[in-house]
Amino acid sequence: MKSICLTLLAVLLPALNGLAQPLPPLVRKAAPGVYYRLSEDDKKIIATTSWIEFRDFLVVIDANFPWGADALLRDLKKTSSKPIRFVLDTHYHADHSWGNGVFAAMGATILASDDTAADSVARNTPGWAKDTGTGEYDLKRYKLVHPQLTFHDKLAIDDGERRLELLREGPGHTRGDVVAWLPKERIVFTGDLCTTRAQNNLSDPGMDPNGWVRILGRLIDLNPAIVIPGHGIQGTVDALKGQQAYLSAIIQAVQDGIVKEQSADQIFTTIDFAKYKPWSDSNTRNHNAVNAVYEKLKGS
Ligand SMILES: [Zn+2]
Ligand SMILES: [Zn+2]
Repeated sequence: MKSICLTLLAVLLPALNGLAQPLPPLVRKAAPGVYYRLSEDDKKIIATTSWIEFRDFLVVIDANFPWGADALLRDLKKTSSKPIRFVLDTHYHADHSWGNGVFAAMGATILASDDTAADSVARNTPGWAKDTGTGEYDLKRYKLVHPQLTFHDKLAIDDGERRLELLREGPGHTRGDVVAWLPKERIVFTGDLCTTRAQNNLSDPGMDPNGWVRILGRLIDLNPAIVIPGHGIQGTVDALKGQQAYLSAIIQAVQDGIVKEQSADQIFTTIDFAKYKPWSDSNTRNHNAVNAVYEKLKGS
């Protein structure tokens, strides 16, 4: 009897170990070894952050805010015990890059395009110094780390089992925008070039509205099965199309309005935003977007 029990245990234990652990509530699995964590807006964790499992290490897409990086790590460790070797900043905005120091302290190397690295040095340095967050959002507990390994056009991470391509696409949302592309799984991580909720921000000095629309066209041509956005839950290629339609409607209205010598406020009233949900769900963001495109295009 004893030997039968031991035999049963020997058979069952590995099987039980192989059972998937339940994922933390905010974590979603997009594909085997491909995860992302949704935002926690009430905790000032607003961006979507992803991680990809390679044979011996992990790659994180976007570092989030430092407290977002802490929260991410708690969840990530429940999916894999492998070390984080690389972190990609899709662009330099604080909600995607200020957590770099948390990962660098663990031995990860921070990757970005050369222009994102330059923007980080020029803009995040004063932004970080001026930040007035307190309590858990006090930056004194953290260190600002800029991208450490940069590229101009493209960088591939390939361990023979999995290939991840980092493609410089900007200027769009910012001048240095990079998307991450898993060609085999057909998953694209867009940073803020695409959102799946009303979180478009067109205020960056390097923002290029027409460039942004062209980038979305190239990403649509990749025909991804899954789109993981900078903000919001995963989508399909339709997320890219909806994002593109929203931006195109604003650009078209602004171009027409400039010809008619309309103000940005007048142009705003000519756009039927109800057609572009969920991207258009914030009236304030819509207004800011029209103003930003107007400022970019009126002198051109
Ligand atoms: Zn951004
Ligand atoms: Zn963002």
